[in-house]
Amino acid sequence: MDSFPTLDDAPVDGRRILVRVDFNVPVKNGGVGDDTRIRKSLPTLRELLQRDATLVLCSHLGRPKGPQDDARMGPVAAHLATLLEREVRYLATPGPGSSEQRAFVAEAPRGSVTLLENTRFDPREKANDPELASILAGYADAFVNDAFGAAHRAHASTEGVARLLPSCAGRLLERELRVLGGLLEAPERPFVVLLGGVKVSDKIDVIRRLLEVADRLLIGGAMAFTFVKARGGRVGDSLVEEDRLELARELMSEAQEQNVELLLPTDALCAREIAPDVPTAVHPVDSIPDGERGLDIGPATVAAFEAALEDAATVLWNGPMGVFEVPPFDTGTRKVAEALAASGAMTVIGGGDSVAAINGLGLADEIGHISTGGGASLELLEGKTLPGVAALGSVAWA
Ligand code: ADP
Ligand code: MG
Repeated sequence: MDSFPTLDDAPVDGRRILVRVDFNVPVKNGGVGDDTRIRKSLPTLRELLQRDATLVLCSHLGRPKGPQDDARMGPVAAHLATLLEREVRYLATPGPGSSEQRAFVAEAPRGSVTLLENTRFDPREKANDPELASILAGYADAFVNDAFGAAHRAHASTEGVARLLPSCAGRLLERELRVLGGLLEAPERPFVVLLGGVKVSDKIDVIRRLLEVADRLLIGGAMAFTFVKARGGRVGDSLVEEDRLELARELMSEAQEQNVELLLPTDALCAREIAPDVPTAVHPVDSIPDGERGLDIGPATVAAFEAALEDAATVLWNGPMGVFEVPPFDTGTRKVAEALAASGAMTVIGGGDSVAAINGLGLADEIGHISTGGGASLELLEGKTLPGVAALGSVAWA
């Protein structure tokens, strides 16, 4: 991993700091739903306030086409105020960079916290327009990026502004980079990777990169059926990416060349449709009758995966083992989640749905690191440099 400046290196004390946070949280009826992302930013914000900084925070929220009342940051500001136990200044504005906003930021008292309006109200955000970057840069003396979930996007508030102000990573971004980057560099062994979810095609580059470092690769979820079919199995009506069968064969031989032990499911819990309490049957994974679909890993696979996780020193999990949203197809996901929670290994979970699954099971506290970035964590695990990180430190601190 390339090196990057952190709050340890940055003289932020007493200064005005623009902080890019990831407050892209669900907002409903004027309230914040799952506030994990806001909570994860608190250590950075508290540290900056302790160091007597004045904070100007910015984030995107959702995918608005322009200024949109249902995507305003107001509810987030109110929620943050409760968590921080202090006032959070917020002004609903047409967008970032409006004259109203400039005046509001100019009036921010020393030591205050101001949250700017949704950065994506302005089309210049996603275009990484230098004009918007320079307006944002004008709000502060320095820039702290703590938005891991947005670090794979070169936007004005992530990449552009880091080219204009002295900058560093916040504590959340720092931890994400160290933990996920560390997996690729020097994982404690055995290093076991557990992959699931829908598509092989979403995760090809991650699988390739991980085959270079993992000792064992366990594949469940819908993506397993593409591998099983590629090997010649009959998978009934299970989800298969027909145009990726060749790729699956390539990945299987790469695993062999790299001496990675590859475990595919041996059995599957099947049904004719996805619905709660439909009739189900367990079939060997390579002889699923037509009309039936594999919707979860079966009990023999659960046992094999549990055994394969037992002696692990490091585990990375991305992607549910089955349709965990609909019982009884949640069993495989729950069992591997419990195995991870009980494990003495360094456990890391990335991916929106896998994280939702572990939160839903109430096991999040038993996991070593839960990544806040879906797309960003995948890109980092592919070995890519994230533009929001690469730009940090390009302007020297005075
Ligand atoms: P993540 O967000 O953790 O990276 P993905 O988005 O790749 O995971 O996949 C999550 C989805 O995969 C879930 O909605 C789940 O229902 C679905 N899924 C898992 N196994 C199967 C299966 N056997 N058949 C159909 N869908 C599946
Ligand atoms: Mg997902």
